[in-house]
Amino acid sequence: MIIGGLQKFSLLDYPDHIAAIIFTQGCNFRCQFCYNPMLVKPGYTGGKVSNRPSAGDGQGQKGHPLITEDDLFAFLDKRKGKLNAIVITGGEPTLHKDLPEFIIKIRKLGYKIKLDTNGTNSQMLKDLIGRRLIDYIAMDMKGPLDKYEKVIGVKTDLMKIKESITIIMKSGLPYEFRTTVVPDLIGFKDIASIGKLIKGASKWYLQIFKSDIDLVNPEFNNTKSYASGEMEEMELIAKKYVKFCAVR
Ligand code: SF4
Repeated sequence: MIIGGLQKFSLLDYPDHIAAIIFTQGCNFRCQFCYNPMLVKPGYTGGKVSNRPSAGDGQGQKGHPLITEDDLFAFLDKRKGKLNAIVITGGEPTLHKDLPEFIIKIRKLGYKIKLDTNGTNSQMLKDLIGRRLIDYIAMDMKGPLDKYEKVIGVKTDLMKIKESITIIMKSGLPYEFRTTVVPDLIGFKDIASIGKLIKGASKWYLQIFKSDIDLVNPEFNNTKSYASGEMEEMELIAKKYVKFCAVR
């Protein structure tokens, strides 16, 4: 596993769990608003992982701390009993063929696993769920299908996205969908279109866009996020389609 960063402690990223967050390196998307360009772009040297603390020891490029699996597992072993879960995020974790084996090793230490994914590797998702290797799934819904490639900055197989939605909703596991609501990319009508794609889902978070950090497309540093009243209006639209929706 190529590990791009480690956040040693979080109470926010896995509901009701005390977790550490592992950031895997590399992504097949180039979401314009992505605030982890160092995990996405090869050779990026501009910033820190999500401005979060990292267990990297400084080797590798500036802002791109490399953590060996040995170092990671030494840390996880030491934290047994203090942490009870691990969030695996990216980049896009399912790009890594060794993800299932990596998760098996972590589970052997007694940790529960939350997986964050962009939904492009529906096959691996199905496999991980079938083998009971994950306990919670968060999938990004980047936009309505007709705008997807504009938001993610590359071409993608939208059928895989749809497949992943179905797999997650039928998994029997707790899950959430989340959408970063970026003005210029996502409007009020788009919220309804996304809502139709995940109709009946248990949880959907609308995430406020942050522009004051390194972004994959620096032009978006000049874009202001929606006002809180506008986000609340979007939440009301979204609530027509899912069981629970909140802005965060
Ligand atoms: S899928 Fe996630 S990590 Fe990849 S570019 Fe988009 S926001 Fe960034």
